[in-house]
Amino acid sequence: MSQENQVPSGRTTVQRLPDRGSYDRETIHSILDEGLLAHVGINTEQGPVVIPMLYGRDEEHLFLHGSPASRLLREGRSVELCVTVSLIDALVVARSLFHHSMNYRSVVVMGQASPVEDLDVRSRALDVISEHVIPGRVAGTRPHHEKEIKGTLVLSMSLSEASAKIRTGPPVDDAEDHELDTWAGVLPLGIKVGTPIPDPQLREGIATPEHILQWHR
Ligand SMILES: Cc1cc2nc3c(=O)[nH]c(=O)nc-3n(C[C@H](O)[C@H](O)[C@H](O)COP(=O)(O)OP(=O)(O)OC[C@H]3O[C@@H](n4cnc5c(N)ncnc54)[C@H](O)[C@@H]3O)c2cc1C
Repeated sequence: MSQENQVPSGRTTVQRLPDRGSYDRETIHSILDEGLLAHVGINTEQGPVVIPMLYGRDEEHLFLHGSPASRLLREGRSVELCVTVSLIDALVVARSLFHHSMNYRSVVVMGQASPVEDLDVRSRALDVISEHVIPGRVAGTRPHHEKEIKGTLVLSMSLSEASAKIRTGPPVDDAEDHELDTWAGVLPLGIKVGTPIPDPQLREGIATPEHILQWHR
């Protein structure tokens, strides 16, 4: 088995509609790189909790960051997480409600996430997260102050246990329903980018930078 198509672990093997599953590194990386938001699941004493968070990918690792008050990060030790990133590409409109669906690309990552103690690595991890959200922003801002790095907690998590699942194409209707007069098809969805709004306190003469004007997903 090649490195590109690793054998999934037992718990990351897609069971339901397994032909939609993929363990290909490029596929997993591309979904993570296009996504903006991760849903991070953790077991707590009060039961399971899922928190939306930003993230960044560095090769075969994900970085998550937050304030020391964050439930995920405040323990200061490794935690078992399940991180999900989903991209919604279209609504799939079928002839029956039963067969309505979505076209999507999603990734589920499971495993231990460990605090990044080294301040240089932590600083770089924060840059990775920033560049993930707004490519070009790190070069467009001042360097981190040391107290900012010290005051931000970062977790690193391996992508070694990860799966992707992808649905594409038209609705899959029951054969007899093709006789109905009901409209069916696919309604594509995407991220709409608006016009940048300068901060009311922005000093005069500062033009909107290219990395903001050109932002897209
Ligand atoms: C935007 C969106 C909306 C969805 N809506 C629904 C819905 O309303 N109802 C529904 O039943 N399902 C929905 N799904 C599919 C859902 O994510 C699961 O794939 C499905 O429910 C099967 O779950 P399971 O735990 O039985 O999967 P199993 O196949 O038993 O899961 C085993 C392992 O496969 C991997 N896996 C499972 N699902 C995914 C995934 N989506 N992406 C990456 N890896 C995965 C995980 O590692 C998981 O631990 C949706 C998916 C997306 C992305």
